[in-house]
Formats: sequence, structure tokens, C-alpha cells
Amino acid sequence: MNAPLPSPTGRMPRAQASTRRLLVSIHDVSPRSEGAIDALAERLERRLGHANFAMLVIPDHWREAPIAGNAAFHARLRQWAGQGIEMFLHGWCHRDETPATRGLAGIKGKHMTAGEGEFLNLTRDAAAARMRDGKALLEDILGQPVAGFIAPAWLYGPGALAALDDLGFALAEDHMKVWSPLSGKVLARGPVVTWANRSPGRIRSSLWFAGLARRALPVMPTLRVAVHPGDVTVPDLLASIDATLARFADTHAPSRYAGLLA
Ligand SMILES: [Zn+2]
Repeated sequence: MNAPLPSPTGRMPRAQASTRRLLVSIHDVSPRSEGAIDALAERLERRLGHANFAMLVIPDHWREAPIAGNAAFHARLRQWAGQGIEMFLHGWCHRDETPATRGLAGIKGKHMTAGEGEFLNLTRDAAAARMRDGKALLEDILGQPVAGFIAPAWLYGPGALAALDDLGFALAEDHMKVWSPLSGKVLARGPVVTWANRSPGRIRSSLWFAGLARRALPVMPTLRVAVHPGDVTVPDLLASIDATLARFADTHAPSRYAGLLA
């Protein structure tokens, strides 16, 4: 087992016994980005210790990477879960497949997230069907319950929120909070720190936000960090991710989402 590295200040994490938690996740886990997932997992382990992070699994990313029937990838998923990595269901295909631009929600989904808001415009029945199928598939592969459901781009329309009530997931999160769909209780508040890699402008603004977050957010009891496969292609993003994890792990114990339910 790897212990978390000392921070740049030379101090070891001092929050192990407190309720100051650092929750870190790798988004968009699917067969189409296995190499990047491995690189991110290795990086997180160096900063956080063994398996102290979550993975968000997409059953069929952009309908190009089905995990159903992919025995080699099933073995990887079981191996990760067996190490103690929390496995969340992350939509079904990740893409908003509903007709374009109906009102504000349409604009938000199509333009702000490059069409990745799969659960923004679905009806309750359609959202519930995707959640139910994804949960059954992933739990069948893993042989254990999923940790929860997290919508692509953290975007939930009214149909998706209503469907969550039907499915019995233990945990869900959006940009600003973690909650339990079972109890309706909000378990943690505060913005998730994440990085965009799609364009130079978005890269610059996410580097700026992460720098601000390192200074301002550690007053919060729970800190959240999310990384994506595309981050590994941008050295400046990797440096910012490392700096952010080092700062946050200095005061907040790398933890499991399930700890919020205890
Ligand atoms: Zn995603």
C-alpha cells in the first residue's frame, strides 16, 4: 500500500481522524479510454494512497464502447472494485440524444456541455430505464452494488431527478452538492474542482479556477476533485491536478464517498 506523499510544505496529511474529507473521482471510465484511466489511477494513488478514489463508469460511451460482452473490460472493472475503488454508474451513453435546443435547458445542455448532458432532457420513464439498465449491467459485472449514480456533466433535468427517487441509489452528486436519493438528505456542499481540456480558453479558465479553489475552498469540510481521461493529454492540467491534490490532501483526508453516509 502506498502512503500519501508529503505535501510541498513537507507536512504529512493531518486530517486522517477528522471529518475533513477529500473525495476524488475519475470520470468517463470506459473501454475507449482505458490507457488514460490507468495513467490517472496511478497518479491519484501517488497522492491519495491506494484506492482512495472513485470511478464513474459509462455503460456505452457515445454508443461506441459497450462494456456489455467485453470480458476483458469486465475483469478490469472487477479488479478496480476489488481494490476498494468505489464504482459509480455515470449515465448510459453520456450524450444528450434528445432533439436540440428546447428552451433554456436545451441551450444549457447543448452549448455549455458540448451535448454531454445525457440526463438533462430525458423524461422520467426514459431516465429511469437508462438508470435501471446501467445499474443492472454494472452490478452484474461487479457482483456488488454500485456506489451511486452521477449524471454526465453533473446535469439532471426534472425527469432524471424524479427517476432517481425510483431507483434506490445510495448517493448522487451535482456541481454543488452530494446527496442521498434514498433519504433526500444533502451530505456535502461546495463546488467540485474539475478541469476542461476541450479548448485553450477552457483550459486557461479551469487552471484559474483550480488556483482559486486551492486558496479558498479548504475552509469547507468536504472537498471534491474530478479528473477526466482527456486531462492526461495536457501537461499544464496534470500539474494543476497534482498541485490541487497536494494542497487538499494536506488538510483533508482522502476518503470514500460512502463515508458521508456513516
Ligand atoms: Zn462524464
